[in-house]
Amino acid sequence: MKEQTLSIIKPDAVRKNVTGKIIDRFESNGLRVAASKKIHLSECEAKAFYQVHASRPFFKDLVQFMVSGPVVVMVLEGENAVLKNRDLMGATNPKEAKAGTIRADFAESIDANAVHGSDSLENAKNEIEFFFAKKEIF
Ligand code: ADP
Ligand code: MG
Repeated sequence: MKEQTLSIIKPDAVRKNVTGKIIDRFESNGLRVAASKKIHLSECEAKAFYQVHASRPFFKDLVQFMVSGPVVVMVLEGENAVLKNRDLMGATNPKEAKAGTIRADFAESIDANAVHGSDSLENAKNEIEFFFAKKEIF
C-alpha cells in the first residue's frame, strides 16, 4: 500500500553535511520526497514532538540534542513507506544497526543517531501534520 511517513535528518547528520547521501538512500530504494524543509526546532517544539518519551531518562538529552542545530524534515512517500524507512534507517543504537543501513553508516551513538522515522502509520499521520500543512506536500 502506498503510504507517507515522516523522516527527520537529525542535527548530527546535518552538521556532517550528509543530507544528500541520506536522501539518496531513500530515493534509491523506492521512496520519494513529497515535502522537505530545513528548520531549527525550538525546545518547546522538540518536547512536543517527543512527548511519548517524556518520562524516559534520556528525554532531556534527546530534546537538547534535537535543538542543537538545524534538521531536515521530510515526508517520504512510497509502497510500505513506514516500514521501508525503518528498515533503511537501521536499529536505534547504531552499534546494533545492520551494515548498509543509514545509522550504521552515518550515526555515532544512540543519542546522535542521524535520523528519525515514524514507527507506525498512525504516528506517521500525526507527525506529518505536526510539521507540514496539506498544501506543502506534493
Ligand atoms: P527510534 O528513533 O529508533 O524510533 P525511539 O523512538 O525509541 O527510537 O527513541 C527516540 C530517540 O531517543 C532515539 O532515536 C534516540 O536518539 C533516543 N534514545 C532512545 N533510546 C535511548 C537511550 N537508551 N539512550 C539515549 N537515547 C535514546
Ligand atoms: Mg521512535
